[in-house]
Order: sequence, then C-alpha cells, then structure tokens
Amino acid sequence: MSNFESQTHSLTEVFGSSVFNDATMRERLPKPTYKALKKTIDEGTPLLPQVAEVVANAMKDWAIEKGATHYTHWFQPMTGITAEKHDSFISPTDDGKVIMEFSEKELIKGEPDASSFPSGGLRATFEARGYTAWDCTSPAFIKDNTLYIPTAFCSYTGEVLDKKTPLLRSMEVISTQALRVLRVFGNTTATRVITTVGPEQEYFLVDKELFDQRKDLIYTGRTLFGAKPPKGQEMEDHYFGTLKERISNFMKELDQELWKLGVSAKTKHNEVAPAQHELAPIFGTTNVATDHNHIIMDTLKKVALRHGLVCLLHEKPFAGVNGSGKHNNWSMSTNDGQNLLDPGKTPHENAQFLVFLCAVIKAVDEYADMLRVSAANTGNDHRLGANEAPPAIISIFLGDQLTDILEQIENGGAKSSIQNGDLKIGVNTLPTLPKDATDRNRTSPFAFTGNKFEFRMVPSSGSISGPNFVLNTIVAEVLSDIADRLEKAKDFNAEVQLLLKEIVSNHKRIIFNGNNYSEDWVKEAEKRGLPNISSTVEATKAMVKEKNLNVFEKHGVLNRTELHSRYEIILETYIKSINIEALTMLDMAKRQILPAVIDFTGNIASTIASIQATGLSVDISAQTELLSEVSTLLAQFKKNITSLEKATSDAANFSGDTFDHAAMYRDVVFVKMSELRAVADKLEMIVDEEMWPFPTYGQLLFNV
Ligand code: ADP
Ligand code: MG
Repeated sequence: MSNFESQTHSLTEVFGSSVFNDATMRERLPKPTYKALKKTIDEGTPLLPQVAEVVANAMKDWAIEKGATHYTHWFQPMTGITAEKHDSFISPTDDGKVIMEFSEKELIKGEPDASSFPSGGLRATFEARGYTAWDCTSPAFIKDNTLYIPTAFCSYTGEVLDKKTPLLRSMEVISTQALRVLRVFGNTTATRVITTVGPEQEYFLVDKELFDQRKDLIYTGRTLFGAKPPKGQEMEDHYFGTLKERISNFMKELDQELWKLGVSAKTKHNEVAPAQHELAPIFGTTNVATDHNHIIMDTLKKVALRHGLVCLLHEKPFAGVNGSGKHNNWSMSTNDGQNLLDPGKTPHENAQFLVFLCAVIKAVDEYADMLRVSAANTGNDHRLGANEAPPAIISIFLGDQLTDILEQIENGGAKSSIQNGDLKIGVNTLPTLPKDATDRNRTSPFAFTGNKFEFRMVPSSGSISGPNFVLNTIVAEVLSDIADRLEKAKDFNAEVQLLLKEIVSNHKRIIFNGNNYSEDWVKEAEKRGLPNISSTVEATKAMVKEKNLNVFEKHGVLNRTELHSRYEIILETYIKSINIEALTMLDMAKRQILPAVIDFTGNIASTIASIQATGLSVDISAQTELLSEVSTLLAQFKKNITSLEKATSDAANFSGDTFDHAAMYRDVVFVKMSELRAVADKLEMIVDEEMWPFPTYGQLLFNV
C-alpha cells in the first residue's frame, strides 16, 4: 500500500488532526476549564485569564508534540489576505539552555507593528502600535511546524484594523435581533442564532513554467495581453469534465491537506472555462467558514506549486473566458439546529419562515448598494455585468413557489403552496427523484436555493468577511424593526400578516426570476429604481452614505471613522492595482513585444531584400503587404504606449481627493490600457509564433 493510500484509509483520523478542536480540548483540558471555554465559544461569555492560562499550556504541549516550534497570531488586515509573524516557544534558562514556554498573555494578546498595514488614515506611522486578540471561536491549528492562533486586529486606540472584528460583531448583532423575533414566535429554547456560510471557491491552474514567463501573471495575477485562441469554452466540454491525472493528483493532495486542518472540503469539479476548477467545503459558522476560506486559498497556492502548477485566484485571469467568483451560501440557524430559512413542505403556513425570508428581502433591497460594494474589487470589475457573472444590479431570485406565496400575501393572505411532486424519469430501473422547490437560476446575483441564499457576486480572491458582515448587519437591522413591531402587537397574527404584506408591496421590486444577463432586465431594473453600479470606484460611495453609516454605527459593527477609512482603503487599493497593471503593461510592451515585432519586420524586410537581390521577377506582394500591415500596427502600438505612459504619469502626479484620483485611473489609465492591449492582440495573431515573447492563451489554458 502506498503512503498515499494508507493516508486515505485513515481519513477519519486525518480529519482535524492538526487542529486544536473540540475533541482535543475535551481530551486535554481539565473539565472546569473545558466547560468555561466552551461557554465562551458557544454563548459569548467573557473569557477569564485563568481559563486562558490553562488553555495556553495545554495548547503548547499539544503543539510541541505535533512538532511545532513556533506560534503565530494569525490575523486578517485590510489587505484582504492574512498576516502572520512567527515567534518561537523558546525561553532561555540560567544554564544556557532553553525551555519551551507559552503564557496566557502570549495566547491572548500580540503586538504586531501595525504601521505597514493599510489603515485608510486611521493611524499615522508614528502611532504604529497594533494589537491582536485571540479569537477562541475559531480553533487554532498547526501548519509548517507553527501553531496558528486566529486573532482579531485593532489599533492602540481601539479602532478596528481588520476583517474579522466587524464579522464577529455582526454575528452577535444578528443573533440578538433574530432571537427577539424567535421569542415572539414562542421559541424559548434557542439561546443563539448563528449565521452559516458555505463559500464555493473557483480558481484556475496554470503550468508554473509558463507562468514564470509572464510578468503580468507574476505582478498582477491576470493576463494583460493575449489573443483569443481558436478554442475557448464554447464547446462546454470542461464543465464537470473528467479530471486530468495531473489535476486529480493535485486535488487529492489538496483535500488531504485541508482535511488535516479541519476544513471539510467536500465537492470538487472542473468549471466552465478551460483550466478552471471549483472547490466547496461543507458550510459552517460564518467566522470559521471565513477563516477556512483563507486556509483554502492559501493551501490551493501551496499545493499547486508542489505539482508544478500555479493557482490563480484572480477574478479575471483571462479575457474572453469566464472568470472566477465565490458563491457565498448564507443562512441563519438556531444553536439547536433549526435552519430559519428552511421553508418546509408548506411554506405558506410557516409564518416564522416568511418573516425571516421577508427580512432578507427588505434588507437586500434597502441596502443593495452596501452589498454591492462588499463584493467590489478591481478584479471583479471585469466580471460583474459581463454576461458570465451576475450583473452589477442586485436582485433576488426566489423561484416559482415562494414568488407565488408572496403574491398571495400581497393579495390578502397565503392559502397554498405549489407542490413540486416527484420527478419520474420514465425508465423503470431509475429511481424516482424528489424535486426541489425551485429550479436553478444561474444568472441571479442573490438566489434562494432551497434553504439558504447564494450571494454570487463575491470575488474569488477576496475575503468573504465583508459580504457576510454586511449581510448580517443589514438583516439584523430589519429584524430589529420587525421585533419592535411584533413585541408590541396586540393581535400578533394580524400584525404578522400586515408586516409581510407591507414588505412584499414595498420591496417586491428587488425580486426577479428571469434572465439577469438580458438587456431587457437592465432597462426593467432602471424602471424599478434599482441601482446599477458598474465599477468599484462608483460602489465605494455607499460606504460613506449617511443611511449606511448610521446602520453600521447603530449596531456597533463599524463606526463612521472606521467606515471612512475602509472607503479610503478600497479606493487606494484600486489606484495601486491599476497603476501596477499599467506599469507592467508598459514594461511588457516596450521590452518584450516591441523588440519582438521589430525583429519580425526586420526578418520580412531582409527576405524581401534578398529576393530582390536575386534579380528574379517574382511576386513579393505577400511579403510587402504583411510588412506594411505589421508596420502600421507597430506604429499604432508605439503611439498607444506613449499615451499610456502619459496617462500613467498624469495619474501619478494627480493631486486631489482619493475618489477623483481613483476615477482618473478608471476613466483614463484603464481605457488607455485596453487600447494598448487591443493592438498587441492583433499583432500576436500575425507575428511569427516562435518570435512571440511569452506563452499564449492557447498554451496557458490548454497545457495543464
Ligand atoms: P451548487 O454549486 O449547486 O450551488 P454546492 O453543493 O457546490 O452547490 O455548494 C453549496 C454550498 O452551500 C456548500 O458549501 C454547502 O455546504 C452550502 N450550504 C448548504 N446548506 C447551507 C446552509 N444552511 N447555510 C450555508 N451554507 C449552506
Ligand atoms: Mg453554487
């Protein structure tokens, strides 16, 4: 039996073996400590120092037994990725030796220098102190001989500098408000409401040797040049296709690594575009799911390298084929396991479900702009609204059954639910399949999929924290209004009916079950007054809108200073990304494409000259036409280089506010980049293949 097989055989033992999880804590902690910690994790009671002291010790012993020499406070600064600084466990003794130590203080608090992380003006570099604080609700784990401790990150003065803190806060907020609603419905047993998330991660794999030859992939994660190959994704033969052996080996190892870290990687398949794949874990608590998604992104990259591959998480690595997103499946459930978005068999009778459903509908309609910006990043600007991903307009897909019920509610009360029955395939040997309540609508940005909502706009490379803390907060806000009303209601049932009816009439404009890719929808959405926000720069405005500032501040998720700083960070990130892309393009254009094309014209010219030198009267129109065609394009290419250079330097020297600066990158620099690319892609189609200075789309997409 190979090493790999024996590993597979003990999957149940492998799963979570590198995690200080519940089973390990139960085994290693004294009972009172375990109980106290569990209470903090499950019920949010304050963590006591004496508990942390015992946990620190047990965690250290466990980690050292597993070969760990270091520990790190793992945090999620505003870069969107994770950060870590490693400290060893060693502590010197008088006799010149060391012992391994790890104190309560080291577990609960870290002090990374915060000056080099984005703060959007929250913190000057001379006030560089930042703190990390242990998040005991997400289990510690071991990777590369290091104990990873998930932490939140804030400044010396307490401002939030990370993506985890607002998420944790939003989970508390929605729990409180959802419980109030549950109580008026007579639920006395649930003590917490948890938001659950299952993010499906899309990614591309390209050959490492080819990757290394492309500066655009190295510096920006996407191709800035590249003509379409003769074949793209039009045959639809890659989606769910058989896995190639190299890919399958990669995926097997990926699963193993993730399972060790307690990540429940469940589904894997080929995606629509060639070289594109997807991985979905089993859903979990939002906080843990977010940490796990970071682990997934990290592990994808690491394991890919072991197989001579590079994993691209960019939203749009290749023009002309689908890009990557993250489908953020989201629901709410009680701590005793009731999914609040489960309609049951007869949803029209399920008033509690309808209230939670309508709360989501109202929240999404009222704060669509906040949700939109939560999914915005430079890469996603290439996808949203580009007929492959959801449009930039937020709407909700509910399917026939629920739409029908809402219509009944609006017209006076719901009396029935359309039943779906079974699906008979018409072959006796095939089983009868129970039908889902709704068919799929792959074009919707926010789709109800049976017992959860799937937010499909989320960018593949980003943290899912933003989309989820926005969702949690806006739904909590609506639930809090609903609770206010229902708690006071004299006739509860009548008030529920009234409330549902109101929400349906006021917010039905957000419901759309049709094709989101159609032109008609764009017009229809405009008539309905739904925002169509086509770029990241535009989307950021939502973050400084009074209504939105108020709701986040009211619930204590982020205050207005923190939101302002995040607004600045998104714009600054946009500016920097486009600037890097422009500079990379110029580098490739001037130092790679231009010389190659000049060589090529030189070759044609010398061929013409040598034919002419023979004195023979042969037809050389092909050569001269080609030379003239290439030279014309080359001249245009050179001009476009000059104008991109000018745009880039103008933008760099711009002095004005961040928004206008970012808008300049979008409206001028980005436009010049596209013009330069267009000419280069034409040149690529006529220049000698051997002379083209870097691997083509065909090689990148079909060579794995
Ligand atoms: P599809 O690609 O058809 O949308 P997948 O099975 O690939 O579906 O992914 C669905 C995701 O939704 C999985 O990660 C799954 O665990 C998650 N999911 C299922 N139920 C819930 C729920 N109640 N809350 C959050 N996520 C859920
Ligand atoms: Mg999906």
